Amino acid sequence: MKAANFEYERPGDIKSVIALAEREDIVTKLLAGGQSLGPMLNLRLAQPDVLVDITAIPELKRVEENADAVTLGACITHADIEDGRVPDGCAGALSTVARDIAYRAVRNRGTIGGSLAHADPAADWISCLAAMGAEALVSGPAGQRTLAVAVLMTGAFDTALAPGELIEAVRIPRFSRSARWGYFKVSRKTGEMAQAIGVVLHDPDRGVCRAVMGATESAPIVFAQAAALFGGTSGAPALDRLDLDAATQALITAGITDAIDRKLHITALKRAIGRAAQA
Ligand SMILES: Cc1cc2nc3c(=O)[nH]c(=O)nc-3n(C[C@H](O)[C@H](O)[C@H](O)COP(=O)(O)OP(=O)(O)OC[C@H]3O[C@@H](n4cnc5c(N)ncnc54)[C@H](O)[C@@H]3O)c2cc1C
Repeated sequence: MKAANFEYERPGDIKSVIALAEREDIVTKLLAGGQSLGPMLNLRLAQPDVLVDITAIPELKRVEENADAVTLGACITHADIEDGRVPDGCAGALSTVARDIAYRAVRNRGTIGGSLAHADPAADWISCLAAMGAEALVSGPAGQRTLAVAVLMTGAFDTALAPGELIEAVRIPRFSRSARWGYFKVSRKTGEMAQAIGVVLHDPDRGVCRAVMGATESAPIVFAQAAALFGGTSGAPALDRLDLDAATQALITAGITDAIDRKLHITALKRAIGRAAQA
């Protein structure tokens, strides 16, 4: 199938994007890397009147660093991160995640902002950036606001973005030297979307202990205070202290009724813990 007809605009600034996106007489769709939107257009799952290409906007490719965080513009590609063309304040964790996404051709065009906004439950960034405590910087008709990535996704392919809002950038806190990070993705073949994702970040110098179970067919399950999942308030996450009942209950609450699926998610989490322990 081919896409239905649409008009194409390529504004040079965010204000013009918002002006188009907030118009009520037309249906607009933002285009970043096009790696998810392209197939949706061709399958006619999306039929916008106007496609608004956001890749010519310098602010959306910006990179800012300070002592606490690295901020990456929404149109930074997975390949930019994989290749180290942007700083990685997370001891290489960002490039490791990027490298595991799809194939190089997809990574060359797919963007960090597009991945978050698309909110595919099986995508890597939504789970990993939630575990990192990242925030999306959002702009829209009502101005700017900040949304924790952990609450950005509200369900499969659904986000807390209001009509006319776009993700401008993602602010990713730096790891401290004491940080231990583990990420594990279960997929049938390299380059495929995940069937289960486990992520653990233990950063005692910053008082952070987070765990995430992702690719759950909905928003990732985020344990913001994961120490409780490991039987206490201190110490690094350890396999022998993982509270399997609590992890299983969280999956059941998230609607995962199949015991084999739950096993897959718990295995991903266990392997992430194992990687964090070795880091
Ligand atoms: C074969 C294949 C395999 C893949 N495998 C993986 C994988 O293993 N892991 C993974 O994580 N991903 C995977 N992906 C997804 C890919 O990595 C892209 O991240 C993803 O397609 C979205 O990014 P994009 O820049 O292409 O967004 P687009 O396709 O351009 O847009 C996606 C959606 O987000 C909206 N949007 C885009 N940018 C913004 C913004 N800044 N603000 C608000 N809304 C916005 C668009 O309007 C659209 O609705 C795969 C894709 C393909 C085609």
